[in-house]
Amino acid sequence: MVAVVTGAAGFIGSALLEALAPRGRVVGIDRRPFTAPPGATAIVADLLDSDQEVRAALSQARVLYHLAGCPDVRDPRPDAAQHRYRDNVLATAAVLATVSLHTPVLVTSSSSVYGGCRKATPSAETDPVRPRGGYAQSKLLVERLCEGRAQAGGLVTVLRPFTVAGEGQRPGMALARWIEAARHGRPLTLLGNPQRSRDITDVRDVVRVLLDLADRRVTGLLNIGTGVGHTLRELAEGVCAAVGVEVRTELSPAHPAEATHTLADPRALRRAIGWVPRTNLADLIARQIAAGAAARHTEPQPESVPVAP
Ligand code: NAD
Repeated sequence: MVAVVTGAAGFIGSALLEALAPRGRVVGIDRRPFTAPPGATAIVADLLDSDQEVRAALSQARVLYHLAGCPDVRDPRPDAAQHRYRDNVLATAAVLATVSLHTPVLVTSSSSVYGGCRKATPSAETDPVRPRGGYAQSKLLVERLCEGRAQAGGLVTVLRPFTVAGEGQRPGMALARWIEAARHGRPLTLLGNPQRSRDITDVRDVVRVLLDLADRRVTGLLNIGTGVGHTLRELAEGVCAAVGVEVRTELSPAHPAEATHTLADPRALRRAIGWVPRTNLADLIARQIAAGAAARHTEPQPESVPVAP
């Protein structure tokens, strides 16, 4: 019996796979090629391709962390809706249909289902949902699939992470974009008003939560967030201070699907696992910068081109 992680080549999935590898047998699945950490097994396949290895891993899973998905709220592709439906909804349905009802399954939905909050009023799991765009709507469909599993007697934990940051963050996310801009001496593009705010959780904290929830067999619906909001301005200043450049920003309109403020009510998570967030923004940004620098250092250098005499 193994622990299985879908989306294992992704930002959160790769950090989780790393943490699980020393704890016993673990299989990571992703359609993007990736290298599993020592002790873990990589399966490169699409969850919707009826791959034999994937089916075998899912049906033998001791616990499944389902993180694969199409995560970008601002996905600019004209066919983003199809990608979201395929990789969020259909892939979740396929996975749930293969995993035994007795296997605990942890599934990442998203805080975007809340559609934001008033600045100082955190979103709790019992609040009404107000999805603002296609991504949030697809995650609500994922939640419905999970409810169906729970009603059928299956073990399922649905997670609504707020913004996650740290080493390996997806390049399109704000901190990753701003770090790149600051490094290259460009102004940081803030989407919408600089007073918009986000609840940001360290990816290491998110991994710790996922492991704790699985270890304690907690089921139900839970936010993953810190309960602390940071304005875009504050985040941009943190990036510039860490890179060592003067703060220069420019404004661009926010995507209509993006909430003005997000803030988690973390009390249910605290009750479930005694959660105390350890996220420290300055430390997080410094690590994300250092990881980017290390990745650039180990990237293969382009072959030298002979210079014409
Ligand atoms: P990511 O894009 O870095 O990782 C997702 C991975 O899933 C990718 O490597 C992708 O190749 C894989 N994948 C997608 N569809 C697949 C399929 N059909 N078959 C096989 N592999 C497939 O995303 P992330 O930031 O690590 O997010 C992980 C999960 O958490 C996603 O479901 C996302 O919606 C959710 N989430 C993330 C955040 C965040 O701030 N990063 C916040 C809330 C929710």
